Amino acid sequence: MSRKPIIAGNWKMYKTVKESVDFVKQLEGKLKDVTDREILVCPTALAAASVVDALRFTNIQVGLQDAHWENEGAYTGNISPIMLKDAGVHYIILGHSERRQYDNDTDHRINAKLKNVLRSGLKAIVCVGETLSEREKGQTEKVVETQVNGCFEGIGLGDLAGIVIAYEPVWAIGTGKTATPEQANEVHSFIRKLIGKKYNAEASEKIRIQYGGSVKPENIKQLMAQLDIDGALVGGASLKVDSFTAIVRF
Ligand code: PEP
Repeated sequence: MSRKPIIAGNWKMYKTVKESVDFVKQLEGKLKDVTDREILVCPTALAAASVVDALRFTNIQVGLQDAHWENEGAYTGNISPIMLKDAGVHYIILGHSERRQYDNDTDHRINAKLKNVLRSGLKAIVCVGETLSEREKGQTEKVVETQVNGCFEGIGLGDLAGIVIAYEPVWAIGTGKTATPEQANEVHSFIRKLIGKKYNAEASEKIRIQYGGSVKPENIKQLMAQLDIDGALVGGASLKVDSFTAIVRF
Protein backbone atom coordinates (compact mmCIF):
# COMPACT_ATOMS: atom_id res chain seq x y z
CA MET A 1 0.00 0.00 0.00
CA SER A 2 1.41 3.41 -0.83
CA ARG A 3 1.19 6.08 1.81
CA LYS A 4 1.53 9.73 0.79
CA PRO A 5 4.62 11.18 2.52
CA ILE A 6 3.95 14.03 4.93
CA ILE A 7 6.68 16.54 5.76
CA ALA A 8 5.92 18.96 8.56
CA GLY A 9 7.92 21.87 9.97
CA ASN A 10 7.55 22.53 13.69
CA TRP A 11 8.65 26.12 14.23
CA LYS A 12 8.38 25.88 18.02
CA MET A 13 8.65 29.37 19.62
CA TYR A 14 10.45 30.97 16.70
CA LYS A 15 9.50 33.67 14.16
CA THR A 16 7.41 36.81 14.57
CA VAL A 17 4.23 37.20 12.51
CA LYS A 18 6.11 39.14 9.84
CA GLU A 19 8.96 36.63 9.73
CA SER A 20 6.45 33.79 9.46
CA VAL A 21 4.57 35.38 6.57
CA ASP A 22 7.77 36.33 4.71
CA PHE A 23 9.02 32.78 5.16
CA VAL A 24 5.94 31.05 3.75
CA LYS A 25 5.77 33.45 0.81
CA GLN A 26 9.28 32.37 -0.18
CA LEU A 27 8.62 28.72 0.59
CA GLU A 28 5.45 28.62 -1.46
CA GLY A 29 7.32 29.85 -4.53
CA LYS A 30 9.87 27.06 -4.15
CA LEU A 31 7.41 24.21 -3.62
CA LYS A 32 4.60 25.12 -6.02
CA ASP A 33 5.03 22.06 -8.21
CA VAL A 34 5.12 19.46 -5.42
CA THR A 35 1.99 17.31 -5.49
CA ASP A 36 3.16 13.88 -4.41
CA ARG A 37 3.61 14.73 -0.73
CA GLU A 38 1.75 16.61 1.96
CA ILE A 39 3.53 19.74 3.21
CA LEU A 40 2.79 21.39 6.51
CA VAL A 41 4.19 24.32 8.49
CA CYS A 42 3.38 24.77 12.18
CA PRO A 43 3.93 28.37 13.31
CA THR A 44 3.06 29.87 16.69
CA ALA A 45 -0.63 30.37 17.47
CA LEU A 46 -0.10 34.12 17.09
CA ALA A 47 1.07 33.82 13.49
CA ALA A 48 -1.37 31.07 12.46
CA ALA A 49 -4.11 33.23 10.89
CA SER A 50 -1.63 35.35 8.91
CA VAL A 51 0.20 32.24 7.69
CA VAL A 52 -3.11 30.63 6.67
CA ASP A 53 -3.92 33.79 4.69
CA ALA A 54 -0.54 33.82 2.98
CA LEU A 55 -0.88 30.15 2.03
CA ARG A 56 -4.47 30.24 0.77
CA PHE A 57 -4.80 28.37 -2.57
CA THR A 58 -1.35 26.81 -2.22
CA ASN A 59 -0.21 23.21 -1.64
CA ILE A 60 1.10 24.01 1.87
CA GLN A 61 -1.10 23.38 4.88
CA VAL A 62 -0.89 24.94 8.31
CA GLY A 63 -0.69 23.17 11.66
CA LEU A 64 -0.51 24.32 15.24
CA GLN A 65 1.76 22.97 17.96
CA ASP A 66 -0.95 22.22 20.53
CA ALA A 67 -4.65 22.78 21.25
CA HIS A 68 -6.85 22.44 24.33
CA TRP A 69 -9.12 19.53 25.27
CA GLU A 70 -12.09 21.91 25.63
CA ASN A 71 -13.45 24.21 22.96
CA GLU A 72 -14.09 27.17 25.25
CA GLY A 73 -13.94 28.06 28.90
CA ALA A 74 -11.90 29.62 31.67
CA TYR A 75 -8.52 28.31 30.51
CA THR A 76 -6.22 31.31 30.59
CA GLY A 77 -3.57 31.29 27.92
CA ASN A 78 -5.00 28.41 25.91
CA ILE A 79 -6.46 28.05 22.45
CA SER A 80 -9.05 25.57 21.24
CA PRO A 81 -9.32 23.37 18.16
CA ILE A 82 -12.56 24.97 16.91
CA MET A 83 -10.92 28.40 17.06
CA LEU A 84 -8.02 27.04 15.05
CA LYS A 85 -10.31 25.28 12.61
CA ASP A 86 -12.17 28.56 12.15
CA ALA A 87 -8.86 30.29 11.42
CA GLY A 88 -8.13 27.79 8.63
CA VAL A 89 -5.66 25.51 10.42
CA HIS A 90 -5.61 21.87 9.27
CA TYR A 91 -3.46 19.90 11.74
CA ILE A 92 -2.54 19.99 15.41
CA ILE A 93 0.68 18.50 16.78
CA LEU A 94 -0.06 16.78 20.09
CA GLY A 95 2.23 15.37 22.75
CA HIS A 96 5.51 16.84 21.49
CA SER A 97 8.23 15.86 23.97
CA GLU A 98 8.88 19.53 24.81
CA ARG A 99 5.25 19.88 25.84
CA ARG A 100 5.42 16.61 27.77
CA GLN A 101 8.52 17.98 29.53
CA TYR A 102 7.56 21.61 30.19
CA ASP A 103 3.78 21.82 29.92
CA ASN A 104 2.47 18.77 31.75
CA ASP A 105 1.24 16.95 28.68
CA THR A 106 0.56 13.40 29.87
CA ASP A 107 -0.80 10.57 27.73
CA HIS A 108 -4.16 11.11 29.43
CA ARG A 109 -4.23 14.81 28.50
CA ILE A 110 -2.98 14.14 24.99
CA ASN A 111 -5.80 11.63 24.61
CA ALA A 112 -8.38 14.24 25.69
CA LYS A 113 -6.87 16.79 23.32
CA LEU A 114 -6.80 14.26 20.49
CA LYS A 115 -10.50 13.50 20.92
CA ASN A 116 -11.32 17.21 20.84
CA VAL A 117 -9.12 17.86 17.80
CA LEU A 118 -10.87 15.08 15.87
CA ARG A 119 -14.34 16.16 17.07
CA SER A 120 -13.53 19.64 15.79
CA GLY A 121 -12.78 18.34 12.31
CA LEU A 122 -9.03 18.80 12.45
CA LYS A 123 -6.26 16.26 11.93
CA ALA A 124 -3.61 15.40 14.50
CA ILE A 125 0.04 14.47 14.60
CA VAL A 126 0.55 12.45 17.79
CA CYS A 127 4.15 12.37 19.02
CA VAL A 128 5.71 9.48 20.90
CA GLY A 129 9.30 8.60 21.73
CA GLU A 130 11.71 7.45 24.41
CA THR A 131 14.40 9.34 26.30
CA LEU A 132 18.07 8.38 26.11
CA SER A 133 18.03 6.66 29.50
CA GLU A 134 14.93 4.69 28.52
CA ARG A 135 16.66 3.57 25.32
CA GLU A 136 19.80 2.63 27.21
CA LYS A 137 17.75 0.54 29.61
CA GLY A 138 16.16 -1.29 26.68
CA GLN A 139 12.74 0.20 27.37
CA THR A 140 12.05 1.84 24.00
CA GLU A 141 9.26 -0.51 22.94
CA LYS A 142 7.62 -0.54 26.35
CA VAL A 143 7.65 3.28 26.53
CA VAL A 144 6.30 3.74 23.03
CA GLU A 145 3.63 1.10 23.57
CA THR A 146 2.47 2.80 26.78
CA GLN A 147 2.32 6.16 25.00
CA VAL A 148 0.39 4.79 22.01
CA ASN A 149 -2.06 2.94 24.28
CA GLY A 150 -2.60 6.02 26.45
CA CYS A 151 -2.95 8.51 23.62
CA PHE A 152 -5.27 6.25 21.58
CA GLU A 153 -7.59 5.24 24.45
CA GLY A 154 -11.16 5.30 23.10
CA ILE A 155 -10.05 6.33 19.60
CA GLY A 156 -12.10 4.34 17.10
CA LEU A 157 -11.03 2.75 13.84
CA GLY A 158 -12.88 5.44 11.90
CA ASP A 159 -10.85 8.17 13.62
CA LEU A 160 -7.50 6.87 12.40
CA ALA A 161 -7.82 8.59 9.02
CA GLY A 162 -7.35 11.89 10.86
CA ILE A 163 -4.21 10.82 12.71
CA VAL A 164 -0.52 10.74 11.84
CA ILE A 165 1.93 9.33 14.39
CA ALA A 166 5.34 10.97 14.82
CA TYR A 167 8.08 8.81 16.32
CA GLU A 168 10.51 11.26 17.88
CA PRO A 169 13.23 9.78 20.07
CA VAL A 170 13.72 12.52 22.66
CA TRP A 171 17.52 12.10 22.56
CA ALA A 172 17.51 13.01 18.86
CA ILE A 173 15.46 16.22 19.10
CA GLY A 174 17.52 19.36 18.63
CA THR A 175 20.71 17.48 19.51
CA GLY A 176 22.09 16.82 16.05
CA LYS A 177 22.00 13.09 16.89
CA THR A 178 19.71 11.35 14.42
CA ALA A 179 18.54 7.81 14.95
CA THR A 180 20.05 5.72 12.17
CA PRO A 181 17.48 4.95 9.48
CA GLU A 182 17.47 1.32 10.67
CA GLN A 183 17.02 2.27 14.34
CA ALA A 184 14.13 4.54 13.40
CA ASN A 185 12.52 2.00 11.11
CA GLU A 186 12.67 -0.66 13.80
CA VAL A 187 10.49 1.48 16.08
CA HIS A 188 8.22 2.56 13.21
CA SER A 189 7.60 -1.04 12.34
CA PHE A 190 6.92 -1.83 16.02
CA ILE A 191 4.35 1.03 16.15
CA ARG A 192 2.73 -0.19 12.94
CA LYS A 193 2.37 -3.67 14.40
CA LEU A 194 0.87 -2.14 17.53
CA ILE A 195 -1.77 -0.36 15.46
CA GLY A 196 -2.41 -3.68 13.71
CA LYS A 197 -3.02 -5.36 17.08
CA LYS A 198 -5.21 -2.54 18.41
CA TYR A 199 -7.22 -2.08 15.20
CA ASN A 200 -6.61 -4.27 12.18
CA ALA A 201 -4.13 -5.03 9.40
CA GLU A 202 -5.63 -2.49 7.01
CA ALA A 203 -5.37 0.29 9.61
CA SER A 204 -1.75 -0.59 10.31
CA GLU A 205 -0.94 -0.45 6.59
CA LYS A 206 -2.72 2.86 6.15
CA ILE A 207 -1.51 4.91 9.11
CA ARG A 208 1.35 7.26 8.39
CA ILE A 209 4.30 7.36 10.78
CA GLN A 210 6.70 10.30 10.57
CA TYR A 211 10.19 10.31 11.99
CA GLY A 212 11.41 13.36 13.94
CA GLY A 213 14.78 14.11 15.48
CA SER A 214 17.51 16.16 13.78
CA VAL A 215 16.19 15.56 10.27
CA LYS A 216 18.30 17.48 7.76
CA PRO A 217 18.71 17.67 3.98
CA GLU A 218 21.69 15.30 4.43
CA ASN A 219 19.78 12.45 6.09
CA ILE A 220 16.20 12.71 4.81
CA LYS A 221 16.74 10.48 1.76
CA GLN A 222 18.06 7.53 3.78
CA LEU A 223 15.29 7.93 6.35
CA MET A 224 12.57 8.07 3.69
CA ALA A 225 14.00 5.00 1.99
CA GLN A 226 12.93 2.90 4.98
CA LEU A 227 9.80 0.82 4.57
CA ASP A 228 7.88 2.16 7.54
CA ILE A 229 8.93 5.82 7.50
CA ASP A 230 6.26 7.94 5.85
CA GLY A 231 7.49 11.44 6.45
CA ALA A 232 9.30 13.75 8.81
CA LEU A 233 8.51 16.16 11.60
CA VAL A 234 11.29 18.71 11.35
CA GLY A 235 12.31 21.25 13.97
CA GLY A 236 15.54 23.22 13.49
CA ALA A 237 15.95 22.52 9.78
CA SER A 238 12.40 23.74 9.07
CA LEU A 239 13.33 27.29 10.09
CA LYS A 240 15.33 27.98 6.93
CA VAL A 241 13.63 28.10 3.54
CA ASP A 242 16.44 26.30 1.74
CA SER A 243 16.85 23.44 4.17
CA PHE A 244 13.11 22.86 4.53
CA THR A 245 12.70 22.97 0.74
CA ALA A 246 15.46 20.39 0.32
CA ILE A 247 13.86 18.14 2.94
CA VAL A 248 10.42 18.35 1.31
CA ARG A 249 11.95 17.50 -2.05
CA PHE A 250 14.21 14.75 -0.60
C1 PEP B 1 10.92 18.57 16.64
O1 PEP B 1 10.85 19.68 17.16
O2 PEP B 1 9.92 17.88 16.53
C2 PEP B 1 12.23 18.12 16.15
C3 PEP B 1 12.32 16.92 15.68
O3 PEP B 1 13.28 19.02 16.25
P1 PEP B 1 14.72 18.89 15.49
O4 PEP B 1 14.41 18.57 14.05
O5 PEP B 1 15.35 20.24 15.67
O6 PEP B 1 15.45 17.79 16.15
